[in-house]
Amino acid sequence: MAKITAVTPTICQLMQITPPQTRAAALPQVLGQAKNIFNGQAVQKCLIYAPDALGLFLLQDFYNEFNQVKKVAPVTADLESVMPTVTPVCFASMFSGALPEITGIKKYEKLVVKIETVFDVLHHAGKKVALVAVKDSSIDLIFREREIEYYSEPDDAAVAARTIALMEQKDIDFILAYNQEYDDYVHRTEPFSSECIQAMYKHIKTFLDLTEAFHQAWGEYNRAIAFTPDHGAHYDHERKKGMHGTDLPADLNVRHYWGLYQSENK
Ligand SMILES: [Zn+2]
Repeated sequence: MAKITAVTPTICQLMQITPPQTRAAALPQVLGQAKNIFNGQAVQKCLIYAPDALGLFLLQDFYNEFNQVKKVAPVTADLESVMPTVTPVCFASMFSGALPEITGIKKYEKLVVKIETVFDVLHHAGKKVALVAVKDSSIDLIFREREIEYYSEPDDAAVAARTIALMEQKDIDFILAYNQEYDDYVHRTEPFSSECIQAMYKHIKTFLDLTEAFHQAWGEYNRAIAFTPDHGAHYDHERKKGMHGTDLPADLNVRHYWGLYQSENK
């Protein structure tokens, strides 16, 4: 099964940029769709929305809710996360295309990733990159020290608002927007608590709102949007709380969604 490392080569192939050194292959279903939609042209604008811990396990009970995501980003990819399934390890691998032994983040620690990432190759190709995340989260910290734009926001809602504002400015070519409320409640409660489910609904709604802004602001460009959680979660019977980090299927399996759209000027 493909891993979340496939995200990096997929972004690079869509934007027609040489990927960082990685053994991961781009997702064939996304490239196949790109061939139909873009006719050999590059994606000019890309928005990646990464909601923390929204694993595939939620689909069993909330199939219809995730179908709303699929409506706007219809190309799905069921992927395995990397071990241990904790946030900085997973995102370091997702956005470099490399496994944890190569990224240097092999456990829960928010070190700066030193190897080449998708953000580096985009920057070197002349693309303007923005990372929008809640302050002090993994995404906010582990990709520092690069010539890209960093937006550290107080909460998820501010991340969404900033992302919309950046799309409206039009000069940014690639945005990674990170949200964390579901994961926050997983650790405080358990994966199907009412707080968690409310947070899941919020993340889905945020993605739909971002999609709408994405079409409005970036409609004149060939564009890609994706929904890319890092890992799942499970109920820990000893601690009586939600957790992740193991190789249980609930932690390891994620479903990603991609939507590809041609410029409306053509
Ligand atoms: Zn996480």
